[in-house]
Amino acid sequence: MSTINAAPAGFITVEGVNKHFGSHHVLRDVSTQFNAGEVTVILGASGSGKSTLLRMLNRLETHDSGRIVVDGIEVSDDARQLERLRAEVGMVFQQFNLFPHLTVLENVALAPRRVRKLDRAAAETRAKELIDRVGLAAHMHKHPFQLSGGQQQRVAIARSLAMQPKVMLFDEPTSALDPEMVKEVLDVMKGLAASGMTMLVVTHEMGFAREVADRVLFIDQGRIAADAPPAQFFGAQDNERIRAFLGRIL
Ligand code: ADP
Ligand code: MG
Repeated sequence: MSTINAAPAGFITVEGVNKHFGSHHVLRDVSTQFNAGEVTVILGASGSGKSTLLRMLNRLETHDSGRIVVDGIEVSDDARQLERLRAEVGMVFQQFNLFPHLTVLENVALAPRRVRKLDRAAAETRAKELIDRVGLAAHMHKHPFQLSGGQQQRVAIARSLAMQPKVMLFDEPTSALDPEMVKEVLDVMKGLAASGMTMLVVTHEMGFAREVADRVLFIDQGRIAADAPPAQFFGAQDNERIRAFLGRIL
């Protein structure tokens, strides 16, 4: 007897989600799914709701209606669910937010010690592997102010990975960097994508989107206006607003 395989449930499910800030309707009935191992690049004009969407996935913002489920965890204010959620979802911001008084090694080892309750030796072993992976083994004992912006952002990525997240959210991770440092950060992100990490990336780096993304989401005024593989998205684009956006970016 043949069996019918149901389509795999989305690793992240967003269902009919709305978000207001005061009277401003920022996300409008957003529904989508993100599968495990998938790299999604999120594009859209400034103010279209990209950051809000990412931030809702780890409850840095609440949603007003609809549902968000991440790896079976219902995103809500329930404290235990929130703890599980935060452990599974890593986030990297435009600003690196490293602890200035801690070394690179201490920055990366801190959360595993505090949250995962690893002893110092185990936390530092894991931290060193990750610091090596982002190419900063030689800088382990430096403080953030001694590093370039690109190096600091790579530390921020390593710090986030130290919690062994199942999904990584990147909100314009290279936007604050000098142009010559963008590539080293994107290269680390490419490596992460190649390792099978589930990633959602808000970026204006179209090369990264073309090369690395499985999927491009275009958000326009709080709605998903396009959802397509990059070849299709960047190909013959018949959506006038997307053409205008790409015209400004490229
Ligand atoms: P994007 O990341 O696409 O630039 P955001 O998600 O940051 O857009 O913001 C979407 C809209 O919501 C913008 O108009 C922004 O000003 C507004 N907004 C975002 N965060 C807040 C907040 N905490 N309070 C009020 N308005 C906000
Ligand atoms: Mg933003």
